[in-house]
Amino acid sequence: MGQKLDQISRLAEQFSDLPAEVVVKEDLLRGGISFTEDALRIASGCKPKAYFIFSFDLVPISELQQGENLRAPEEICLTGGVRNFRRTIVSVRLNPSSPYRVEVSQDGKLVLIVEGEELCEVELQPVPEYYRRRLSNGKPLTDIAPTIEWGYLLYLTVFRICQYFGKKEECQFCDINENYRQQKKTGRSYTAVKSVDEVLEALEIIADTDSHSRAYTVTGGSITSQVDGKREIDFYRQYPEAIERRFPGRWIGKVVVQALPADEVKLFKDAGVQIYHPNYEVWDPRLFQIICAGKDRFVGRDTWIQRIVDAAEIFGPSHVIPNFVAGIEMAQPFGFKTPEEAVASTREGLEFFMSQEIVPRFTTWCPEGISLLGKSNPGGASLDYHLQLLRAWRETLEKYHLPPPPGYGSPGIGNAVFSVSSFMDVIRPPEAVRSQREVSGASGEASEHLN
Ligand code: SF4
Repeated sequence: MGQKLDQISRLAEQFSDLPAEVVVKEDLLRGGISFTEDALRIASGCKPKAYFIFSFDLVPISELQQGENLRAPEEICLTGGVRNFRRTIVSVRLNPSSPYRVEVSQDGKLVLIVEGEELCEVELQPVPEYYRRRLSNGKPLTDIAPTIEWGYLLYLTVFRICQYFGKKEECQFCDINENYRQQKKTGRSYTAVKSVDEVLEALEIIADTDSHSRAYTVTGGSITSQVDGKREIDFYRQYPEAIERRFPGRWIGKVVVQALPADEVKLFKDAGVQIYHPNYEVWDPRLFQIICAGKDRFVGRDTWIQRIVDAAEIFGPSHVIPNFVAGIEMAQPFGFKTPEEAVASTREGLEFFMSQEIVPRFTTWCPEGISLLGKSNPGGASLDYHLQLLRAWRETLEKYHLPPPPGYGSPGIGNAVFSVSSFMDVIRPPEAVRSQREVSGASGEASEHLN
């Protein structure tokens, strides 16, 4: 057995309380995937990667020798195979030197191979009708309103640039500005500032042709001065306002912007937004200062956290879902040295928020080759770390008897569609949590250690 296969088997056993599929999913998200030419030929006829906000690739486009940036799928679905995988949706993060490769098997199926062994079959999402359409100004719909999460979420990055510029301000894991530059260089239609009219026209087409999408996210880079003469709150709220006016309640509206003062957050609520994501990225105060220097200087960590708590008064705690980027707290030279220390720190943040019924979610760190942290830490965080974190996240959720976060579709392995981390895949049905409590002898209050 090769090294990678050996590691997968060992960790699947060590974390047998987690679904075995997430061992592979997290490894694909942290280290990327490659495709053979034949597999890319098949993938070219399926829903393509739209570069919906960041590159989410481990190498720059200039190093993708097979034109993968134009041919690879947005997501893959792991299923079946000798390990009998339940459906698991994984975002595609390109890395030509990944040990994981999608190939075409002898009987013509797409399969996931590692070290010469077939792990499972791979399914791709067909191209939705709206992906073939253009707006009246000629722009492809995929530029204005791509979908992810197997078609569940419309991803509206309405401002593709961040006003935190350069090494001293940009979050160090983030490649939004550099990705914008590389996409423009390739000639892809990649609109920096989307107009409200463009967004509405794209949604009109989707509303007419699609029945799978359930939610939309309005997001983009931070605005520290103005865009189109508008401050951050006024720029971003015009989109949900217009969407809700034109399509009231058609989708669950979400916004991902900075942690804003309560009076501004209320304007999102008034516009019809249902879920607010003020992402705190990393919990540790020292690391927040280093990794999110712009946010630290313009807003400050304590204010950021207080604003998350204040937002819960406006939206209700379950509808404030701050994201963190899982793994950046292990980035060297300044990060934690062991997965245990890193997870202990992040668990503190989970405790802080979940004890107030606010459920943070996370994305698995992709060490993009064009981001500062990706360049200095191409290996990202260890697989062991990511599995420990999933366990800590679920334990804390269950400890506080909290429901799955809203706006992500059905939870649990085989059902979840959230593709950039496995937090939705590891959620257990209430019966399983109850019987686990009985087995561990916990009564009344939940045990600290439910796994
Ligand atoms: S605030 Fe940070 S994470 Fe958000 S877009 Fe700007 S640099 Fe990226």
